Amino acid sequence: MKSFMNIAVSDYVDCPYCSRRFNEKAAERHINFCKEQQKRLTSKREPSQQEKARAAAKTVSAV
Ligand SMILES: [Zn+2]
Repeated sequence: MKSFMNIAVSDYVDCPYCSRRFNEKAAERHINFCKEQQKRLTSKREPSQQEKARAAAKTVSAV
């Protein structure tokens, strides 16, 4: 049991952008996503209320 847990934990990957941990498959997708998010956050000025609302609406419709 213990060794199984250790193996499972070692499979987790730290996202270099937000420091959260994901399993290998999720990390692959998440890190790509997170990289784009960080790029936007760092390269753009603070978004306005309107832009935030638009981004939120976009996220909802995408899901
Ligand atoms: Zn992340």
